[in-house]
Amino acid sequence: MFKAILIEKDDSGYRASVTDIAEEQLPEGDVTVEVAYSTVNYKDALAITGKAPVVRKFPMVPGIDLAGTVSQSDHPGIAVGETVLLNGWGVGETHWGGLSQKARLKGEWLIPLPAQFTPRQAMAIGTAGYTAMLCILALERHGVTPDQGDILVTGAAGGVGSVAVTLLSKLGYRVVAVTGREEESDYVTGLGAAEILNRSEFDSPGKPLGKERWAGAVDVVGSHVLANVCATTKYRGVVTACGLAGGMDFPTTVAPFILRGVTLAGVDSVMCPRKYRLEAWQRLAKDLNIAKLGTIANEIGLSDAIPFATDLLAGRIRGRVIVNVNR
Ligand code: NDP
Repeated sequence: MFKAILIEKDDSGYRASVTDIAEEQLPEGDVTVEVAYSTVNYKDALAITGKAPVVRKFPMVPGIDLAGTVSQSDHPGIAVGETVLLNGWGVGETHWGGLSQKARLKGEWLIPLPAQFTPRQAMAIGTAGYTAMLCILALERHGVTPDQGDILVTGAAGGVGSVAVTLLSKLGYRVVAVTGREEESDYVTGLGAAEILNRSEFDSPGKPLGKERWAGAVDVVGSHVLANVCATTKYRGVVTACGLAGGMDFPTTVAPFILRGVTLAGVDSVMCPRKYRLEAWQRLAKDLNIAKLGTIANEIGLSDAIPFATDLLAGRIRGRVIVNVNR
């Protein structure tokens, strides 16, 4: 038997609890992983609380991320004893995920843990950090360089935002961070932001175009914030959109795109092809200041992940969390 968070939905409601599970109950897959660490991302919090229909099959073990050691493998190229990493692919949504001491998975979903990271550090980064890197790769692919001007990061005190600020500042960009929590200004400045703006400047309906301010942006918020970011992006600037923490809607006009040649680049981590994942993790290994992970992430135990999910959705969590599934 091993322990996992199990989400159930039946006539008595929607609930998540730490449950003892037998190995035979694990879903099909060609690789079994002894999970060392997982994490709670925004999507995991939605799954655990049931606030949005993230979970597509019940019962479900949540956890879109995991890092651990292979204990059984029928997959070519994946050996017993190897340390592996998983992000997304519908795990924690349609296939049992990482908030568990064991997982059975498709080998094609796994990537080798980069040698620069321990499993714990990889989960401090998690899908949030890997997505931040995907956003930066998208800015680079569209030709954004530090000499072109400021990069705006929204939701800066959250998971994606914290890693984005850290990476961009190390890469030599001048980072302007947007946060709704003034009390986190010192934290975000410590990660490398040169300037902090209050979310209230962005979260109400704005004009189709405003003063040109950003060469690029990483937006995790959506809705009016994303609309106002696009409206204030410089001529030929690039906005990467990866999140909906402020809403799924996008109340804008085409003005930034047709009058200023602004590019809106969508970023998805879940089904992102393997070669871009490998690139993102290689770049994290090269460009992330690992010393900052200690400031960004705190560790909790498996059962703590359930109340933690509510706090995360309420916007009360700073940075990232690592879940020690054996604690
Ligand atoms: P967090 O909860 O850690 O951070 C989100 C941050 O957004 C908060 O810390 C807060 O930052 C800000 N925020 C929260 N609520 C609101 C609001 N109502 N209006 C404006 N800002 C708000 O989540 P993550 O960083 O892990 O994820 C951020 C978003 O990115 C989520 O929507 C998530 O689903 C999405 N995501 C998408 C991925 C993809 O593949 N496309 C992958 C990973 C995440 P502050 O207090 O600093 O303002």
